[in-house]
Amino acid sequence: MKETVGTRGLQFNEPLLFEQGSKGRIGSSLPPPDVPTRRPERLIPKKALREEIEGFPELSEPEVVRHFTRLSQWNYGIDVGFYPLGSCTMKYNPRVNEDMARLPGFARLHPYTPEALAQGALQLMWELERYLAEISGMDRVTLQPAAGAHGELTALMMIRAYLESRGNPRRKVLVPDSAHGTNPASSTLCGYSGVSLKSGPRGIVEPSTVASAMDEEVAAIMITNPNTLGLFEEHLLEIAEIVHEKGGQVYCDGANLNALLGIARPGDMGIDAIQFNLHKTFSTPHGGGGPGAGPVGIKAHLAPFRPVPTVERKGDRFCLNDDLPQSVGKVRSFYGNFGTMVRAYAYIRALGPSGLRKVAERAVINANYLMSHLKGIYHLPYDRFCKHEVIFTDAYQQPHGVSTMDIAKRLIDYGFHSPTIYFPLIVKGALMMEPTETESKETLDQFIEAMKRIAKEAEEDPELLHKAPHHSKVTRLDEVRAARQPNLRWRPQSKEVPEVPPGALKGEGG
Ligand SMILES: *Cc1c(COP(=O)(O)O)cnc(C)c1O
Repeated sequence: MKETVGTRGLQFNEPLLFEQGSKGRIGSSLPPPDVPTRRPERLIPKKALREEIEGFPELSEPEVVRHFTRLSQWNYGIDVGFYPLGSCTMKYNPRVNEDMARLPGFARLHPYTPEALAQGALQLMWELERYLAEISGMDRVTLQPAAGAHGELTALMMIRAYLESRGNPRRKVLVPDSAHGTNPASSTLCGYSGVSLKSGPRGIVEPSTVASAMDEEVAAIMITNPNTLGLFEEHLLEIAEIVHEKGGQVYCDGANLNALLGIARPGDMGIDAIQFNLHKTFSTPHGGGGPGAGPVGIKAHLAPFRPVPTVERKGDRFCLNDDLPQSVGKVRSFYGNFGTMVRAYAYIRALGPSGLRKVAERAVINANYLMSHLKGIYHLPYDRFCKHEVIFTDAYQQPHGVSTMDIAKRLIDYGFHSPTIYFPLIVKGALMMEPTETESKETLDQFIEAMKRIAKEAEEDPELLHKAPHHSKVTRLDEVRAARQPNLRWRPQSKEVPEVPPGALKGEGG
């Protein structure tokens, strides 16, 4: 049977909004207003008003609905399939979290609502702080930072304020070379110069490396545990001792907390401050820049420097407190991303302590399952048990001229999102896989099978991989040109899909 023109099955092609509609079409038909109308010039200064937007699309409601629904069907997300993007913890986001975040009492609460009428929201924040403190072994928590990186910066600001109060804010921050790029960026933004620490041969930081870099101008070490190689920093206690002895602070990048939940607590490992990526570990849909939250847990000596307002409890009432003389000030409008806090709260309450522990256990088992099945087929640079994620490389495929990029692109043809690639930077051609706890054995087996077939294809038909993906709407792009001169008009490239009929893509620029 001949394919319908312009579609593949029921996946539709979709021109830009600017290429659709017709003059005079509108998306709604409201009755005439029963109050006097005003011309826009009387409300907005004339110079701020645009006469007419040339070519502004005029569309009916169904056209708009179909446009965005079709585009959403091109998208890939955790609700569609496996998303082993290392370091990002792309776990399934339980629907009950969404239900709770949409309760009108939470979703419609105005940030200026008087405290007396917002007791439930304040109580939720107060309790969430305590849960996060308990889970991490820290004394206090601030919920305000809006993302992990923002949490890093907020924590360093508190550390700076603390050291300043003791006479010297110091100049340097130590950052292992396996760290996420946000670590050196946060330290620079906070006025520190980053000093890179070389990871040892086992992929973790050696105490001797820290000892030789440590002096009284080092404000803090930023250490990720488990680190971005998916390995537990086994010498953390000793490292913390070395840093503390010279008056420095130990900051933990807590983005990988999924591996530790209910098993080990950073607060028991000599950590002074840690950020939580609520959107990763505590299951809020993320990626694409949507709202997240990066609360920071701190030990008592850093508590006076928390951002304001803090959430306090007086008897059975909850209130906001701006009276914290040594506070670093405000880091976010209002109180942070409240919707993300509701989701994290619902997640923690739904799982409870034993459920949280199972999260970590299963996340670790799933990563080790991938490791044991792909070992020998892909090069494993650190051949030891991993935590929540595992790193392979393209070293076995390179002799056939096949790279990590080719493997990642070919996975799309098999229906999988790629792992994180070329990160961490210290592993050449890295493929960083984080399956998370929410994937079934069947899904992991399908992924393993796809990875095995790709390894075979690399030997038998490297050309096939160089041109992958073959079955997607858009096939292999020139990455640099796509980033610098994005062409958002979709155009079929694959031979199997017929050309769009003339006129469907008006003004196609090529
Ligand atoms: C994701 C991540 C961050 C940054 O978190 P954002 O919420 O994206 O700002 C920092 N460190 C590590 C190890 C991460 O995986």
